[in-house]
Order: sequence, then C-alpha cells, then structure tokens
Amino acid sequence: MSHSSEPDNEGQHKTISFDEALATALPILQGMKKNLRGAPKATRSSLDQLISTRPNLPDSFAKTDRPSPLTKYIGKTPEPTTLPMDVGRLAKLEELKAKILSCTRCPNLVASRTHVVYGVGNPFAELLFVGEAPGEEEDQKGEPFIGKAGQLLTKIISAMEYTREDIFIANILKCRPDMPAGESGNRKPKPAEMATCLPWLTQQIDLLKPKVIVALGLTAVEGLLGEPRTMRDVRGKWLDYHGVPLMPTYHPAYLLRNQTLAEKRKVWEDMLLVLEKLGRPISVKQRGYFLEKS
Ligand code: URA
Repeated sequence: MSHSSEPDNEGQHKTISFDEALATALPILQGMKKNLRGAPKATRSSLDQLISTRPNLPDSFAKTDRPSPLTKYIGKTPEPTTLPMDVGRLAKLEELKAKILSCTRCPNLVASRTHVVYGVGNPFAELLFVGEAPGEEEDQKGEPFIGKAGQLLTKIISAMEYTREDIFIANILKCRPDMPAGESGNRKPKPAEMATCLPWLTQQIDLLKPKVIVALGLTAVEGLLGEPRTMRDVRGKWLDYHGVPLMPTYHPAYLLRNQTLAEKRKVWEDMLLVLEKLGRPISVKQRGYFLEKS
C-alpha cells in the first residue's frame, strides 16, 4: 500500500494510507459525476483540473505519466455501477489480488504451479461463477475456465446474453492441484487445500458483491457452504451464501461427459432461474434452448 504525506490543520505533515486518500477524493469524484445522464466524458485535463484542486492527493493521482487509478475513466462516461465512488473497492481488490498472486500457503502447490489463477471479469459484476480449481491450461495461462470446460462455460455465458467481461469467474482453489509425477490430467482439490484457499474467495466475494453466485459442480457448492451435499439434492434450487442467492448447477466438465439434450436443458433451466433472479430480459428463443423437439 502506498502512503502520502498530507498537511494537517496545524500545517504539520501526517502520513495517510492510499485508501484514506481515496476516501478524501471520493466526494469530489462523486460531485464530478453527479448528473450522469449527459455528463461530460472525463478527459486528461478534467482529471488534471480535479487533481490541481486537491494538492494533497497521493502521488498516484498526480499529473505524471505513471498510471493513475483515474486513468481508466478517461474518454468514458462511467456507468452508474462503475462510478469513481467505487475506486476504493477497486483499490482493495487490487490489493487482494496482489496477496492472492503471491500466496505461499500450500508448499506443494507453490512448487508445482505455473500461475496462481486469481479470477477474471468485471469487478462490478452482478453475476459470479465459481468453479473448482484451475486445470492445466488455466495454470499455464493464469486465467480460469479457458480449456474445453471453460469454452463450454463461455458458450453458456453468451447464451445468457453476457460476455466473460460482464461477469466474474473464480475458483475455490487458486492453484492447480498438483499431480503425482508422471500423471497428467486434473485431480480434485483436497479438503485441507480447500480450507486453506477458501478465505481468498471469501474476501473476493465480499469485495465483488455479486447479486447472484452460480456454483459449478459439487466441489464449488461444498467449498462455499462448507458441508457435504449431493448434486441431486441441490441442483436447480436456490441456496444462500451469506445473504447472496447461490444457484448450484452441473460443472461444464460434467456436461462434456454427458452431452444429452436433457442434461444440457437442466443446466439451462438453472441459468434461466439466474436470469430471472437478476431481472434480465429473457427472449422466447432463450426460453426454448435445449428443449426436445416434439
Ligand atoms: N475447471 C474449473 O473448475 N475451473 C477452471 O478454472 C477450469 C476448469
């Protein structure tokens, strides 16, 4: 965390944290974007003007070529959900990401991993998908759900009329479970590994504040709820994760192994429930996906 020196009332200097500095900047930023409809787009000069009115903002806001937390707003009229008032939350997420990426809690996984897989998507997403753990390709690239199962998940996401950039995708385990020497493929995370890693996901969810969580497969359900369950009991039923509606559904890897219309339809019906819960428009065509033709 960076700190800045800010004069206090007596003209002396005190050190404030980056988050405190953001909190100072917040009211001004909010004022700047009070009337969002037709609001002017942020420009480098409007940001510089803002910065010049607050000489005590931390260095990271200063007029330099270094990336500033505000740079991403240049040329954009932010959506209400991506208002600069959420800059504090973004900063906390970045801080958390740095901690997750340098985690060394499981020595065996640290030794075998290529990348820690933090998660991907919109930090203001209303919808969060939670999977089990990175596989080989995810470990290689550092991004969740990019292998075969991931490509199927991406298709499900686009059938819901979202993109991967609209939602957020994370896993119970941030590192690929290591495999015995000479063995390929993936293994299920061990309970101890899940227990060790879970606090990271808990903190991510606290900051992401999704409106709905989809748990992909039983490992995700059990990881989030901390109790053994059966897919037969939970699939397609709303559960609760600390006040956030949680929809358990099959893992896309299961669907790859069971490619019947009936199984695809079950997952799709779960996703229709999710769309309804989020108040998203659903077309007649969408409602009919994966139905047996009579
Ligand atoms: N399966 C998962 O559960 N997560 C991934 O990231 C990839 C495959």
